[in-house]
Amino acid sequence: MKIILLGAPGAGKGTQAGIIKEKFNIPHISTGDIFRANIKNNTELGQKAKTYMDKGELVPDELVVDLVIDRLEQDDCKDGYILDGFPRTIPQAEELDKALAAKGDKIEYAINIETPDDFIINRMAGRRACVNCGATYHTSFMPPKTENICDKCGENLILRDDDKPETVKKRLEVYHDQTEPLIDYYKGTGILSSLDGTKDCEVVFAEICDVVEK
Ligand code: ADP
Ligand code: AMP
Repeated sequence: MKIILLGAPGAGKGTQAGIIKEKFNIPHISTGDIFRANIKNNTELGQKAKTYMDKGELVPDELVVDLVIDRLEQDDCKDGYILDGFPRTIPQAEELDKALAAKGDKIEYAINIETPDDFIINRMAGRRACVNCGATYHTSFMPPKTENICDKCGENLILRDDDKPETVKKRLEVYHDQTEPLIDYYKGTGILSSLDGTKDCEVVFAEICDVVEK
């Protein structure tokens, strides 16, 4: 089961990917998490990515595409995967399709979680993330059992720098400009499904299951 999750930052991609991963036992590949792990470990890639992420801009395609294509070669991806936050531009989608087609492979589902900008602003303000395992919470909608502590690994939760309101505004502009055109791209390849991301998390997940299990 090879799935791409599309949607604005804060639409709920990471949240849904975490549940899909548990239910279908396939890896959750988040390019944002990969960059954040590189920043934490102070790698060269992390240092480069941080300059873009802090401004709410996209990391250049050439720093992202090979990284993902190499990741998909790993053994745990052989029965499928969930891509969260990739592709984010048309060239990324084209490179991905090309690399998969060269192996006689393809993405099966592109699931667009539709969430209007005014919901996004609230979601980002309350989002708390675990820098250790990537789990995501919301102070009101999905609080952790103990305030600011990750239920899964016990590490502290943080408000991501790029979730501050000034950066969120920029990220939404970037989304509409560079990532939203992917909706038409995947409509064109015939694998797009769109869901209402404003519904409760369980409802969104049930709708994703309807798409992939039909
Ligand atoms: P993305 O990965 O698309 O950036 P997240 O999965 O991190 O988005 O979700 C953004 C925030 O919204 C998080 O704080 C998360 O807990 C919360 N959230 C996710 N899905 C829902 C939902 N269906 N209803 C309410 N809050 C949600
Ligand atoms: P995310 O965790 O998906 O919200 O991503 C956080 C940030 O990482 C984004 O705002 C971008 O700066 C960067 N990023 C993540 N994935 C990509 C990608 N596929 N292409 C370019 N930049 C990305």
